[in-house]
Amino acid sequence: MTKAEALANFKSETCACGNGKALLYSFCRCCYSRLSRSQQTALWRKIDMGYQEDHMTALATLRRLGRVKEAA
Ligand SMILES: [Zn+2]
Repeated sequence: MTKAEALANFKSETCACGNGKALLYSFCRCCYSRLSRSQQTALWRKIDMGYQEDHMTALATLRRLGRVKEAA
């Protein structure tokens, strides 16, 4: 994930799972609630301070849980 992609996701109102999400959030509440506490906390790190990596880890977890489909 690039910085531009991370920023675009923050400004998007669609979660990776297809549900609506609030601006400036990484995922919708549903997806967010499925992550472990440490993964939730990690998503509040700043971009370029580890955020992109943590976002990809969270995404991998959501794919494993079946919430998010594999990237096309
Ligand atoms: Zn979602």
